[in-house]
Amino acid sequence: MDASTLTRQAETFRTELITWYDANQRDLPWRDEPSLYKTVVSEFMLQQTQVKTVLPYFEKWILAYPSFSALAEASENQVLKSWEGLGYYSRARNLHKLAQAIASLEKIPRNAKSWLAFPGIGPYSAAAICSIAFAEREAVVDGNVVRILARLVADKNQFKSTVDAAKAYREVAQTLINRDRPGDHNQAMMELGATVCLKHSPQCLLCPVSKLCEGQSKGIESELPRFQKRKTEKQTISRAWVVGDQGILVHRIPNSANRMKGLHEIPTCQQLNINVGGGVPLLERKRSITKYRITERFHKFEPSIIDLPKLGPNFLWVQPQEIEDLPFSGPHRKWIAELLEMEG
Ligand code: SF4
Repeated sequence: MDASTLTRQAETFRTELITWYDANQRDLPWRDEPSLYKTVVSEFMLQQTQVKTVLPYFEKWILAYPSFSALAEASENQVLKSWEGLGYYSRARNLHKLAQAIASLEKIPRNAKSWLAFPGIGPYSAAAICSIAFAEREAVVDGNVVRILARLVADKNQFKSTVDAAKAYREVAQTLINRDRPGDHNQAMMELGATVCLKHSPQCLLCPVSKLCEGQSKGIESELPRFQKRKTEKQTISRAWVVGDQGILVHRIPNSANRMKGLHEIPTCQQLNINVGGGVPLLERKRSITKYRITERFHKFEPSIIDLPKLGPNFLWVQPQEIEDLPFSGPHRKWIAELLEMEG
């Protein structure tokens, strides 16, 4: 089946999908007494993050900041602290700025095109928010939607990236949208991608649109969609674990940085001008960020080698009991706890 055949069967697709969604949708806190604010917060949190990770953050967030104006009035430090652990901190900063922008408006725009002007809002979020909150007929297209559509039409094309594939499928997705219930249709597509049309093991027997699915009838659904292989790069980062009566030496990422400004981390040896040579690290941890496979090595140094005034205002001593109150990037808080434990 090609995309045009699928669009000819749009009515059947919509009906099967929405009927399935009405019977099977998960009970999620942002669907309970929905509001524009809850929709926006959930959409920001769900970018690149799974529902089960988001749930506890969402509940706490709504209690701490129940409205756009409550969020607008919070300090950036508070907001980053509340977001800590969810990653991709630019989302928290943008959500904060968005709340400030909305709180200052007399009239909130109700279409995706206008929402694109707000911080942190791309075509996906604009479509999701405006279809759910204002019933705008704007289809969402992300990795989930691309996966479903590419399987339905048994598309063997190889895409460079999800963004590339999303562009290719935007028109088909828009043709399929349910004109009476666009927000529910978009949520149903998300739900189908997250719970049935899974990346590695699609549950075709449970799928409401399986009779329309050519990928499944050809037995190639698990291989689709196809993407060019991404090259990975290895990196090693040496960090300095410096602890004494003054506290633990931490680095605050400056405001001039492109990413993660205001967050704290264990400083790198390079930042402190220390050459570790072939020294044996106290602790080693591995992690992946986008295409990078990173080995983080922690080397212990005595506080006497640190000349704080020379290092500048972004390096500070922090007592272990103060760690809890500071926003940290990625797993640094966990690493600090591990290092403190090792030190006894
Ligand atoms: S039949 Fe299977 S592959 Fe096709 S859309 Fe449904 S879950 Fe996905």
